[in-house]
Amino acid sequence: MNSLLNPRRTVAELKELRAITGDQNGAQRIAFTPGWTKTRTWLRQKLETLPVEMHTDAAGNFWATLRGESEKSLLLGGHMDSVPNGGWLDGCLNVLAGVEILRRINAQYNGKSPVTIRLVDWADEEGARFGKSLFGSSACSGNLDMNEARGLKDKDGIKLPAALREIGVDFERVKDSGKELENAAAYLELHIEQGPVLLDLDLPLGAVLGTFGVERHAITFHGQAAHSGSTPMNRRKDAFLAGAKMSPEVYRIAERSGNGVCTIGSCTTKPGIVTSVVEECRITLDQRHLDSTALAKMLAEARAASEQFAREGNVSVSWERLWQIAPRPFNAELIALCDEAIRETCGKVHRLPSGPLHDAAEVAAAGVPTVMMFVQSLHGISHNKIEDTKEDHLELCVRAFDKLTEKTMRWIMRA
Ligand SMILES: [Zn+2]
Repeated sequence: MNSLLNPRRTVAELKELRAITGDQNGAQRIAFTPGWTKTRTWLRQKLETLPVEMHTDAAGNFWATLRGESEKSLLLGGHMDSVPNGGWLDGCLNVLAGVEILRRINAQYNGKSPVTIRLVDWADEEGARFGKSLFGSSACSGNLDMNEARGLKDKDGIKLPAALREIGVDFERVKDSGKELENAAAYLELHIEQGPVLLDLDLPLGAVLGTFGVERHAITFHGQAAHSGSTPMNRRKDAFLAGAKMSPEVYRIAERSGNGVCTIGSCTTKPGIVTSVVEECRITLDQRHLDSTALAKMLAEARAASEQFAREGNVSVSWERLWQIAPRPFNAELIALCDEAIRETCGKVHRLPSGPLHDAAEVAAAGVPTVMMFVQSLHGISHNKIEDTKEDHLELCVRAFDKLTEKTMRWIMRA
């Protein structure tokens, strides 16, 4: 156990942050609002006692750099912004654990660690105000769709470029922030799980394999409207019958895929009246998997099943893609180091994929070796004021994440 690290202080600082930026409904640190600016000022004060260089980049991301012997840098990331009425840990746990680790490294190496350590607070991870998440990290990775982002408006009609101007950021130049990744040798992110997997396994910590790829489609079955009284059962072209068969089928597809998930999230019928056979049935399908081949297979199986059910019911089927994103698998060697750090801290580990996207997905997409560590979420709930994690688990995660940082630093030096 490293005595220079004080995980209890991280818990105390999280409570201090909750007291000054939260209310009875939860955390109120929505990006590009006064509450968020206040949070940043508080964070700067926490870092002032350290010999770090601090600056805000072209996209409004905040960086604190502890220069090391080598220019190669190890990045630790998180986000201080929250959704409205958010939880007290989502995003800021990562940043404050990073602050504590900077203190430990600074003390241990007398201000000169073997590699450069950089803490980043990404701007607007949540997308709570403009409806588009991962703003700062996607600007930095170069993936931000400038045309789409230029037109984003908040509920008062204020455009994203105008909100950015308020905090001194020129929208047209946000991708200049990409230069921050120049010497990046690895990126680490700690996060609460936001789901029930670790809770159900009764484990405090997990190593994250990557973020899921997503395929989202609308599937429409076309039959024929007919009178519910006069049409014999064997003469119907019932679009709903075919659509409904998809529901148990996607459960079988998900089960065969291993770690994948499939959701039929909506179903609408036409004419949608009690006295007519359904003419048109439209369902939406959301499929997610960490492996791109497995994701493609899940999609192909759903398509084949829909065609079979259409044939059986004497109806036709059409597909429309709504959205898609590729899986972002994390770096295998860093996953192994994360695994090791967790085992050394609490004996047991579980490897799991992340359903939600995180800034880490953007950094990985930019080609920087990346891994995330999850800590158990009580109730498996996030984006809610009841979001919580046991205090001893919070302390454990700071310890394990610190070990991962040290191991990654040595991994960078070996490279
Ligand atoms: Zn988050």
